[in-house]
Amino acid sequence: MVPGTDTTGDAMAKGKSREKSENVVIIGSGPAGLTAAIYTARADLNPVVVAGMRPGGQLVDTTTVEIFPGFPDGIDGPELMMNMRKQAERFNAKFIDEDVVSVDFRKRPFTIRTETAELKAETVIIATGASAKWLGLPNEKRLAGKGVSGCATCDGFFFKGKEVAVIGGGDTALEDAMFLTRYAAKVTVVHRRDKLRASMIMQDRAFANKKISFIWDSVVEDILGADKVTGVRLKNLKTGKSSEFKCDGVFVAVGHAPATGFLKGQIELEETGYIRKYNGTKTSVEGVFSAGDVADKAYRQAVSAAGDGCRAGIDAERYLQEKKK
Ligand code: NDP
Repeated sequence: MVPGTDTTGDAMAKGKSREKSENVVIIGSGPAGLTAAIYTARADLNPVVVAGMRPGGQLVDTTTVEIFPGFPDGIDGPELMMNMRKQAERFNAKFIDEDVVSVDFRKRPFTIRTETAELKAETVIIATGASAKWLGLPNEKRLAGKGVSGCATCDGFFFKGKEVAVIGGGDTALEDAMFLTRYAAKVTVVHRRDKLRASMIMQDRAFANKKISFIWDSVVEDILGADKVTGVRLKNLKTGKSSEFKCDGVFVAVGHAPATGFLKGQIELEETGYIRKYNGTKTSVEGVFSAGDVADKAYRQAVSAAGDGCRAGIDAERYLQEKKK
């Protein structure tokens, strides 16, 4: 065991500042954060995971995960995340289910603050992931929960027998569209180009689904409706023409933005907000590592995030070993 740690359950209680410095604080509890927790816990580093108010990352909003290795029949997203957490806890990882409010990486040990706790850490692994983007239309906010949704698995049930539009052309849009056909009478995918970004297998499934149709080369100019959604105004980018499309629900599935707001001024970020990577999991600050979607625009898969978490955990362990020499 590496000395200088104090990871009693009591010290995790809300409202307590911890005087001793942790070996590793992991921020985030998706596949990246939890895999980093499993690796660093098993290396006896007693990691503390600041898991967030909604622990588990994006997979807790998913139904069946079909492409995570080891589950030939698929596994429910929330169950997979709960299993990962239990696995980390078995090796003595501790969890704080709060969001990080601020960090200070200018002084060592590093400082990580939540609403009720202040942690000091020798190393930090940032695995806060990314969250769904919105279109940015005024009526999108106004009609949120009144027909506008960012989560098909959460809200699809409310659209039994109705007509809905899904905005986007990626895997999320098609997965949402297919899920929504369980409830909705008709699902229309609105995409801004004439080619989908989604994987071929998802495209094949969506094209084969009789309840799904497509509107190409079009963006949403406005979402219509007084108290609830009645339709969208679309603009065809090729012809420049606007038209109204009637629907009862609008599911926005236009990608994700990294959760890095709390890192501004503390660490180098790319223009898009993703953490700038230096040689694998390293960041611009020595001793601070990144893992998963928060620094990955290219793959963004649960399994690639888990792989990153493994690498970040091993890199943090090696860094601590080097410092001890
Ligand atoms: P993506 O970034 O892959 O796709 C976003 C889509 O939204 C694109 O088609 C994009 O258009 C469109 N878009 C972006 N901004 C706007 C806008 N302002 N107005 C209109 N359309 C817009 O995000 P996803 O969330 O779909 O997927 C993220 C990652 O997760 C991917 O790697 C994906 O493969 C993976 N994933 C895998 C799943 C699975 O395997 N079951 C399920 C869900 C996601 P354009 O194409 O023109 O850029």
